[in-house]
Amino acid sequence: MSSSFRQNRREFLQTTLAFSSIAIAGCSSVARPNSSNISTKSAHPIGLPPLPYSEGALAPVISAQTIGFHYGKHHKGYADNLNKLLETHKEFADLSLEQIIMDTAGRAEQATIFNNAAQLWNHTFYWSSLSPKVVEPSHALAEKINESFGSLDNFKNEFSKVATGQFGSGWGWLVLDGHKLNIVKTSNANVPFTRGQKPLLTIDVWEHAYYLDYQNRRADYAHAVIDKLLNWRFASDNFEKSL
Ligand code: MN
Repeated sequence: MSSSFRQNRREFLQTTLAFSSIAIAGCSSVARPNSSNISTKSAHPIGLPPLPYSEGALAPVISAQTIGFHYGKHHKGYADNLNKLLETHKEFADLSLEQIIMDTAGRAEQATIFNNAAQLWNHTFYWSSLSPKVVEPSHALAEKINESFGSLDNFKNEFSKVATGQFGSGWGWLVLDGHKLNIVKTSNANVPFTRGQKPLLTIDVWEHAYYLDYQNRRADYAHAVIDKLLNWRFASDNFEKSL
């Protein structure tokens, strides 16, 4: 990759990834793109951020057993794999997690690094997208949702449909796309910010996210999570940082 291309990607990150500072607040090794003195240094290893609540906090919608495996095995596995890969891929040694994702996206020869880096980021964003407490969207986000989807209930129905309709493993997202809110899905490890969309919320629809609790009933999982667990404070913070 040419240095000017990498520089362009860094500039993209600096100007468009300010929204992600909440998501990565628990991850001390990730650069804060929002700071005035932007650091592109990442003191590897890249850490596994702590869960923002106890493993049992989301029950009965998501059981402690599911969270235990999902965080303790799957999410941790992505962090462990990535750090192992970075030991032999020194070209990424000074990059933050977001920069590694941007630099490897769409590059077949770097797919393993991309997959593990993006899954590390996605899961951190997913835990922050859920809350054991009921929280409401801010006034500004509520207005934008009404403008975009008609009502919060319409949004929830549409989000459930899109999440349930993702073929195979992947993610459902509420994103800010330019000045518009949009619901999108991504397959496998893919993440909307590599295509310029700013994530506000996500739901994991890989089978490991729901199979212990819901078996094949993905729609039941999606409905329950979207109705009862979405962290609208997190979404509102991401939205307001993006304006
Ligand atoms: Mn997952």
